Amino acid sequence: MSHTAPTPRAELDGIPAYVPKPPKPPAEGPSYRLFLNENPYPPLPSVLAAITEAAAQTNHYPNIFPDRLTDALARRLDVPPEHLTTGPGSVGIYQQIGQAMLKPGDEVVYAWPSFEAYPIVVRMAGAVPVEVPLADGVHDLDAMAAAITPRTSAVFLCEPNNPTGTAVGAAELKRFLDRVPSDVLVVLDEAYYEFYRSPDAPDGVALHHDRPNLLALRTFSKAYGLAGLRVGYGVARPALAQALRKCAVPCGVSRVAEEAALASLRAEHELFERVDRIVAERERLRTALTAQGWAVPPSETNFLWVSAGAGSEALAGELERGGLLVRAFPGDGLRVTVGSSEANDLLIAAVGRLTPGR
Ligand code: PMP
Repeated sequence: MSHTAPTPRAELDGIPAYVPKPPKPPAEGPSYRLFLNENPYPPLPSVLAAITEAAAQTNHYPNIFPDRLTDALARRLDVPPEHLTTGPGSVGIYQQIGQAMLKPGDEVVYAWPSFEAYPIVVRMAGAVPVEVPLADGVHDLDAMAAAITPRTSAVFLCEPNNPTGTAVGAAELKRFLDRVPSDVLVVLDEAYYEFYRSPDAPDGVALHHDRPNLLALRTFSKAYGLAGLRVGYGVARPALAQALRKCAVPCGVSRVAEEAALASLRAEHELFERVDRIVAERERLRTALTAQGWAVPPSETNFLWVSAGAGSEALAGELERGGLLVRAFPGDGLRVTVGSSEANDLLIAAVGRLTPGR
């Protein structure tokens, strides 16, 4: 018998794993998960009741597509249901994008640093990442437009941007969209849409109507607090939305996830009060960290970027030992999720103690 093993595709070599090493909670004492931009609130009782009820039917398959959720979202967003695709989180929709829209050798333009899934999605498809550095922590839309070539098949725009929390306004975004050739897909990743409070915040769902190359991506993971159940959706003109749906994993959104998302839409008022509180905490946290002398750009998300440069890893390590589990970007900064007010108080005190020169 020969001992050769099946050979994975060569493209996989060197593609980083999606999940970086998670921070380690200390052996004793409480710890706070501030490294994945999660919502600090547990599910509402009404959402938990829907989850429990749906869980009792786990012996059955869900529908191939979550049709009831699709219809509810269509009503909520005032778009026809054919404009929607759904998946297990917005990362599930990126897989649809990779399969439906990217070919080997295509170029995909996106800013860097940005959402870490982008290079993975692009390289998995055999396409070529074209990374355009942020300018002063913000999308450099002129440079991104200039990076588009006849080989570009897509632009990914993280708006607001993860990990910096920064955003571009509606007018600037529209000018950029007008410069992108109509055969180039623009993915407007609005994972943090509900936290974006500037009056100039763009709305990808509104923008998609007269832009056949635009896909707006949203998720139930952040504002709706359903990260553990994996529900995301995309809104696009029907030709694009239906191509993506063709590539969706059948039954990729479980019945439990669908019912939880439906219950969350019904409880949106209560959930958005929580989002208001997170936004208020974000501003309190930023004011406090800035007063300590840290450079923290304004954020339109549920996290803050702390430019700690070369000291980022050491600072994250110290916070980790105190149970504050944040995300370090070595040599660059920390990304800190806005947590409960208790976690935020502890963070302000701990970072204050670690401030150089204090
Ligand atoms: N887009 C961005 C910009 C994100 O930061 C995240 C999660 N961190 C996602 C998409 C994926 O979210 P999910 O798959 O949970 O919907």
